[in-house]
Amino acid sequence: MNYQEIINTQKTFFDTNTTKEISYRVKELKRLKNVLQKNEDLLYNAIYNDFKKSKYETYTTELAIIYHEIDLAIVNTKKWSKKKRVGTGLANLPGKSYIIPEPLGTILVMGAWNYPFQLSLVPAIAAIAAGCTVILKPSEIPSNSSSIMAKIINQNFSESFFKVIEGGVKETTELLKVRFDKIFFTGSIPVGKIVYQAAAKHLTPVTLELGGKSPAIITKDVDIDMTAKRLVWAKFLNTGQTCIAPDYIMVESTIHNELLSAIKKHIEKADYKVENQNYTQIVNQKNFERLQALIKNDKIYLGGQCDAENRIIVPTILTEVSFTDKVMQEEIFGPILPVLSFDSIEKAILDIKTLSKPLSCYIFTKNKTIKNKILNEISFGGGAINDAVMHFMEQNLPFGGVGDSGTGNYHGKAGFVAFSHYKSILQKSFLIELNLKYSPYTSTKLKWLKRLIG
Ligand code: NAD
Repeated sequence: MNYQEIINTQKTFFDTNTTKEISYRVKELKRLKNVLQKNEDLLYNAIYNDFKKSKYETYTTELAIIYHEIDLAIVNTKKWSKKKRVGTGLANLPGKSYIIPEPLGTILVMGAWNYPFQLSLVPAIAAIAAGCTVILKPSEIPSNSSSIMAKIINQNFSESFFKVIEGGVKETTELLKVRFDKIFFTGSIPVGKIVYQAAAKHLTPVTLELGGKSPAIITKDVDIDMTAKRLVWAKFLNTGQTCIAPDYIMVESTIHNELLSAIKKHIEKADYKVENQNYTQIVNQKNFERLQALIKNDKIYLGGQCDAENRIIVPTILTEVSFTDKVMQEEIFGPILPVLSFDSIEKAILDIKTLSKPLSCYIFTKNKTIKNKILNEISFGGGAINDAVMHFMEQNLPFGGVGDSGTGNYHGKAGFVAFSHYKSILQKSFLIELNLKYSPYTSTKLKWLKRLIG
């Protein structure tokens, strides 16, 4: 496939200014929702064939998020696109100042495999709302999901506006040689660096949505049962293959055992079993083997069973884990949960800060001082107090990482901003013109200038 040719087609279309019309953007967003709704069964089947994931989870973690983003964009695109008046300084009076959002242009969106639809389509929705054209390169790993997206998008949209290009490393490497106006990447830290370097060659701006080890910190004063229930759901959703899943737990030592019992109770209640048709598979053999190697027999509190044929790993809780163990040195991205304990919150914070800045941090506490201390002292992308993962669903909360967990953010208006340039304009009239700024530069002029602008 000649990628340059496709991008040229998109650039030519962008230059017609059609995407700058709000009515066009809204029409295409409605088309996208309609096309997805019409093909919902195909989408469920594709995810099932890739992960054996239930329809319920596919709806809640993929389609519902996409539909919400489309609806929000349809309602707000006009408002977000409006020029905004700002104040003007004395030196420029009479005059006015304003900021005009303009679409960046032709966008490359690269998706990750764990939520193949929403991680690809939510950025694309934001780009369309902002008035851009989009090339979408989904992850090739869930091949059914990638091909169904290519089929339904490419059949229903003009390739000069929105096109899905499928492919793995070889194709993506070629694609990254082309100049885009923005690259939006979701995936791992090592590939994030490859994308950043490729973008730098053209000075292309990037948003990088990466990963990391997201801690859940729990103090002794919490509602232990509810904490365990929320954590179990957040961790084992999609079998732990969630970038913002709690990666490990740091619990105050006095409630360590009680929390473990509550976690065990909620795992058993949730019916995460090998024979359960609703328990999501590990995506591929490579990840299955990587996860299996992280499970140390002498540290298993619960679980540990692995079914290689079906790529199933049951929820596994590890105890007696230290920061030097392998499981604490890489993002787990699977159903393994190390539970570590602490006696001093100061020491716990120091330990957490030996790792890279996490994408999320979850603080379970009723203690305001501890909550504020953690918020103040640990840098992380975003998170929740007394819950986990649910902040992702809040459209008013920009979603993204910091440091190694990413750069830039999206969701709701933040997505629109990610694909816009904010053009700053000062507008003057011909009414009057003070001579102060013009040569000759006399001492009287300087005196007046100082009085006027300080
Ligand atoms: P990945 O980096 O392997 O793949 C992401 C994308 O990059 C895919 O489209 C893939 O085809 C492409 N790619 C892979 N290798 C490449 C190469 N050498 N050159 C060019 N392109 C290449 O990531 P993944 O395995 O799909 O996803 C898992 C990672 O993504 C985890 O670290 C997870 O935390 C992170 N993640 C982050 C978020 C977020 O929103 N921050 C969401 C989901 C996943």
